[in-house]
Amino acid sequence: MGYSFNRSRLGRVEQLHAGTHYPRSAGEFQAWFRADEDCLDYLEWLRWPGGFTCPSCGHAGGWRLGDGRFECAACHRRTSVTAGTIFDRTRTPLTVWFTACWLFATQKDGISAQSLQRSLEIGSCPTAWAMLHRLRSVLVRPGRDRLSGTVQVDETFIGGDEPGLRGGRAPGKKVLTGIAVETGEPKGIGRCRMAVLADGSAESLHPFVTGAVEPGATVITDAWMGYHGLAGLGYVHERRSQRAARARGDDPGELLPAVHRVASLARRWLLGTHQGSVDQAHLPAYLDEFVFRFNRRRSASRGMVFYRLLELAAGHDPVRFQDLLASKKPHAQRPQPPQVRGHPPSLDRSRANWPWRTGELQLQLPIPLRLNEYPRWPICARVPLSPSPQPASPTRRSRSAQADGFGSRCLTVP
Ligand SMILES: [Zn+2]
Repeated sequence: MGYSFNRSRLGRVEQLHAGTHYPRSAGEFQAWFRADEDCLDYLEWLRWPGGFTCPSCGHAGGWRLGDGRFECAACHRRTSVTAGTIFDRTRTPLTVWFTACWLFATQKDGISAQSLQRSLEIGSCPTAWAMLHRLRSVLVRPGRDRLSGTVQVDETFIGGDEPGLRGGRAPGKKVLTGIAVETGEPKGIGRCRMAVLADGSAESLHPFVTGAVEPGATVITDAWMGYHGLAGLGYVHERRSQRAARARGDDPGELLPAVHRVASLARRWLLGTHQGSVDQAHLPAYLDEFVFRFNRRRSASRGMVFYRLLELAAGHDPVRFQDLLASKKPHAQRPQPPQVRGHPPSLDRSRANWPWRTGELQLQLPIPLRLNEYPRWPICARVPLSPSPQPASPTRRSRSAQADGFGSRCLTVP
């Protein structure tokens, strides 16, 4: 049986509620995502909040098949919930994926591939490494807002300045990274953006600034000639000369304090969580992870960060292992004995009660028409009792119902 309806009533949940749309705590996370089918339904809810929409033709409406896939009512193409997302054709159980996402989003400093492998019994380090890199690859939302207001911009070598290099811009082993940081008045740090730069020339710096900062913003840089011409690109350009600072007796390293603070936090994070073992080819992905977490450091709830991560993951195209390898393979691992190889065991337990569905029902009554078998559990709702023949000897439930005119009645929504 097919269906179709006006999606404008539904769509993405406008107001997210902690405890309904995302878990508030680690305990709630564990209670919600007990089985792989809990995770699958949460992904389905994230991906198609108003019901199934065909990814190939865009038609809203279809059937749920016996194997859990959907068939489009228009083009009859069959799609699974994970197809076309970063969980496409994964052999890692979704409970393991969700726990990895939870750790990635909620740990203050993230998690390394080795810790992930050990804590979730993932068979090999490359599998854990690839899971984390798949998550890193979804973090940059296309069309995200650029920085605005007052923005400090500088470039630096991430991994620590190499001594003996003149001016910090000479080529060395480290990777030149552009950093842009919003600053408040008189102090305070807002959001940041980081990107690997080919060199310190205007051809590299100008695209970085235009990609990271909204035109009209005030851009503060040092007097490096690579920043010449920013005023012509629509920015209010303020230049702070190191030579002038030295002449005044100020510390030239403190001209752009916000950028230097962010750079040292990033370096410390790479050395701490990842023990400095970050491949140059993958540094952009690590910078994306740092920026994602840094820009959400004041988020009221860690669970909200988890929700955002899964939302990005469910909306991102699949990432193949070969694409992740970039130019270099992950570090060679000692071969493991056959019994510990392969895919991690599921963290499956008995199914949870899906608050993101029941909470939505409470918020969105009257209940929207969904797939033929949705929802698949009885809902105990308080409904006005119609004058119906009372049983000869009233039961406990009907006696309490008579008292206030309402009663609990189990109903199944069509
Ligand atoms: Zn279709």
